[in-house]
Amino acid sequence: MESHKPMFQVENFDDEFVQKLVYDALVWCSLHGLVVGDKTYQKSGTVPGVGMTHAPISLLPTQFPESYWKQACEVAPIFNELVDRVSLDAKFIQDSLSRTKKADIFTSRLLDIHSKMLESNKKEDIRLGLHRSDYMLDEETKSLLQIEMNTISCSFPGFGRLVTELHQSLLRSHGDHLGLDSERVPKNTSNSQFADAMAKAWLEYNNPRAVVMIVVQPDERNMYDQHWLSSSLAEVETEGSVEEDGTLIVDGQEVSVVYYRSGYTPRDYPSESEWNARLLIEQSSAVKCPSIAYHLAGTKKIQQELAKPGVLERFMDNKDDVAKLRKCFAGLWSLDDPEIIKKAIEKPELFVMKPQREGGGNNIYGDDVRENLLRLQKEGEEENAAYILMQRIFPKVSNVFLVREGVYHRDQAISELGIYGAYLRNKERVIINEQSGYLMRTKVSSSDEGGVAAGFAVLDSIYLN
Ligand code: ADP
Ligand code: MG
Ligand code: MG
Repeated sequence: MESHKPMFQVENFDDEFVQKLVYDALVWCSLHGLVVGDKTYQKSGTVPGVGMTHAPISLLPTQFPESYWKQACEVAPIFNELVDRVSLDAKFIQDSLSRTKKADIFTSRLLDIHSKMLESNKKEDIRLGLHRSDYMLDEETKSLLQIEMNTISCSFPGFGRLVTELHQSLLRSHGDHLGLDSERVPKNTSNSQFADAMAKAWLEYNNPRAVVMIVVQPDERNMYDQHWLSSSLAEVETEGSVEEDGTLIVDGQEVSVVYYRSGYTPRDYPSESEWNARLLIEQSSAVKCPSIAYHLAGTKKIQQELAKPGVLERFMDNKDDVAKLRKCFAGLWSLDDPEIIKKAIEKPELFVMKPQREGGGNNIYGDDVRENLLRLQKEGEEENAAYILMQRIFPKVSNVFLVREGVYHRDQAISELGIYGAYLRNKERVIINEQSGYLMRTKVSSSDEGGVAAGFAVLDSIYLN
């Protein structure tokens, strides 16, 4: 169970050897498309094939105890099922987010779409979930704790596989010297499993002429991870329509599946056009990944509500499943609990304060937690419903090599393991419910936030011990 002594002491590596590894890694990235748009090159977010640089990577896989890896894989289908059940309980979603709605305009707009669907009695028969549940290993309690469940626009299902293959390749060439076995890096087919789930959703929709539409952000340096068709939400408003029978037509083509790699942050809705497009898609009979209900089921507020005593039991019948999920829950609280507020003001370093946002860079840490809580106490009740409080997790710090823009740095780092999950269902028939690969993200331990695209973390894989 315990991780043993570090299997490789990066302190002992000589520079020349590391340089050689870095060189090989960068060649591999370039040859296999583990690349992103280079921000110094203006067109790199719009024109594929120009201004590319390797993705930020960890030079070697990071150790991860096998028992926790198995635990994370085992709960993936249970979390998939939970999201589906929560998505069907409209009252739970609306009630849980009712106070948040008043304090947070973005959540409020999403809830408006959800309400409209309820009013028109819109049902989603075919439901496609492509999720990523993120975990950190808490060093103090020696437990695998969930950071969050992402139900919209989970990034790097493409690169998850690639970075795993990069590490396996490096270990096959240099493993003897390193004392590492490439077989200890678990196989990762994140990209093909997600693609397969989308293809099967397309099959269920059952019109061979219909297309899969990928909704992306307009200037996307992470386009190579998406590697798909693209269009923007604003285009959907101008080019798209919904026919009487619910068929979604965009650019003259019938759309069977809408896969969002956008739409998760207020920045994706700069005008009413984007909101109209989101509503239009929701009203259509296309399979949405995610539907508005799946999207809302992945909010941090719902995560916190689900962690309350007795709530999981409302959604899951199987006691073992409930126990497995609960085991991964960290402490989560709403801000209307005076006891916990008092504690967090006294010891803010033990908490993270989270708004209802996605994409990294939004959370509040340390002394800012105290300041914000004191400010909210002055401002009164309403505003605090925009946030939740979470127990801060402290993972083990290890020495790693982070490679960015062709340069490596040796640093103290911590890691977050994301497990992808795919779920596809048509009415009562569950077609796919599986763990679908993984992504490790590693960041310098002095940084509070994660997020590869946000510039805090690098892509990584795991070495089982
Ligand atoms: P987002 O939806 O923006 O990714 P997260 O909840 O994943 O929001 O938080 C972003 C990052 O903040 C995580 O990747 C992680 O590095 C850090 N983080 C979040 N929650 C905690 C926590 N409870 N303890 C320690 N770090 C956390
Ligand atoms: Mg998230
Ligand atoms: Mg996250």
